[in-house]
Amino acid sequence: MKDRVELYDTTLRDGTQMEGISLSVDDKLKIARRMDELGVHYIEGGYPGSNPKDIEFFARMSEMNLKNACLAAFGSTRKAGGRADTDPNLKALIAANTPVVTIVAKAHDRHVTHVLETTLEENLSMIGDSVRHLKEGGRTVFLDAEHFFDGFEANRDYALQCLKTAATGGADCVVLCDTNGGTITSRISEIVRSVVKEVPCEVGIHTHNGADVAVAGSLAAVEAGATHVQGAANGYGDMCGNANLFSIIANHKAGLHAAAVAKEEWSYQHVEPERVGNTNRFLISELAGIGNVVRKLHERGIEVSLEQARSIRDHIKEKEALGWQYEGAEASFEMLVRRMLGDYKPPFEIASHKVTIEPGRQIDPRTGEREYIAAVRMTVMVRKNDREWKGHADHEGVGPVDALDKALRAAIVGQYPGIASLRLTDFKVHIIDSHHSTEAVTRVLIESAAGEFSWWTVGTSPNIIEASLMALVDSYEYWFLQFQK
Ligand SMILES: [Zn+2]
Repeated sequence: MKDRVELYDTTLRDGTQMEGISLSVDDKLKIARRMDELGVHYIEGGYPGSNPKDIEFFARMSEMNLKNACLAAFGSTRKAGGRADTDPNLKALIAANTPVVTIVAKAHDRHVTHVLETTLEENLSMIGDSVRHLKEGGRTVFLDAEHFFDGFEANRDYALQCLKTAATGGADCVVLCDTNGGTITSRISEIVRSVVKEVPCEVGIHTHNGADVAVAGSLAAVEAGATHVQGAANGYGDMCGNANLFSIIANHKAGLHAAAVAKEEWSYQHVEPERVGNTNRFLISELAGIGNVVRKLHERGIEVSLEQARSIRDHIKEKEALGWQYEGAEASFEMLVRRMLGDYKPPFEIASHKVTIEPGRQIDPRTGEREYIAAVRMTVMVRKNDREWKGHADHEGVGPVDALDKALRAAIVGQYPGIASLRLTDFKVHIIDSHHSTEAVTRVLIESAAGEFSWWTVGTSPNIIEASLMALVDSYEYWFLQFQK
């Protein structure tokens, strides 16, 4: 048995099944990088072959150098009555070219006969064939035994047989899933203990939060001999969520006490913030202390007195009441401070802007679906000292932020040709519930990059164009500070 506990992050697969979570490929890549930096051992990326987004994700991940983690592709065993070597799902798993493949299998007899609608014997063959096929392909193979705990209560022998078949086929770890999240902690301990005695490979745990004890169940399983723990960032996940991987890491001192501490240096005294991913992260919010504001600005090369820090903090408080948020938009935070301190001279000012959006409509003759092709026209007047420059953008089929960016760029590129190196790389819109009952506030976050350097800015307004313009202007001015001094 392994002498360490391996952490397996399923944020990008199980976590994204949570209502309200939808991640772009770029989001997924960023999360993977953060999870890798946090030091998890495995990152489950999704179902290759299930949709274009995941196909793109696996292709782009193959170019990313992970420092700590191994990437896992997720799928299921071969279909009932089929063959492993021609199974499209297994083919897609191999094609994803990840070092690890995790396949889900049924381990509850009634689920086999009533949901899968096949025989108990065929389900065992599906497990054995699939594991062997993936091992022949050179993969590390984990088997997620779905509804394992309920299956164990219903038919202990069959549930164990599923695991043993996987182990015999060469599985590196069998992962006991409490899919409905209803198994109480003491029962998880007992069951894991007996599985560890009977199954000749590593045993893992995957809990859900149906009874709000997913983390407790994971820790209990580790105490009972599990060496592999699956969870998701912040407990995101299907139904009531997965086990919160951050809490599990934070609880190593209690749960993993004597059994298996992942790394010796992990503190028994308290949890270092780095262990739960909080390295260098400072929450710029109304709750931030004055001392934190001073320290944070010092890191950015700005020295302020306690008095100044207090007024900055108070100003942030006022802005947050209007729906602003500077967490995650530190470049805007810096711009806010520089403007407040008084000796800052902006490289340009927006004198005026005009936006027209003309909705077009056409109907796809094939599907009858309506498509809206908007023509966006933007004019921006930019002023510096007494001179003004005009920028215009006239675009079909692009969003207003893109058109706004093009118009702004056109206005200033003559004065500042270097601005061409600034790229907009990501864009998020949050509609904030209204503080006043009649209008919602839109918060726009923009990520910009120049070379390897990237930064986030924010704008907030009831009007999305205004909010976007604020975030863009912050981004441009931040670029000037970094590259044009
Ligand atoms: Zn799950």
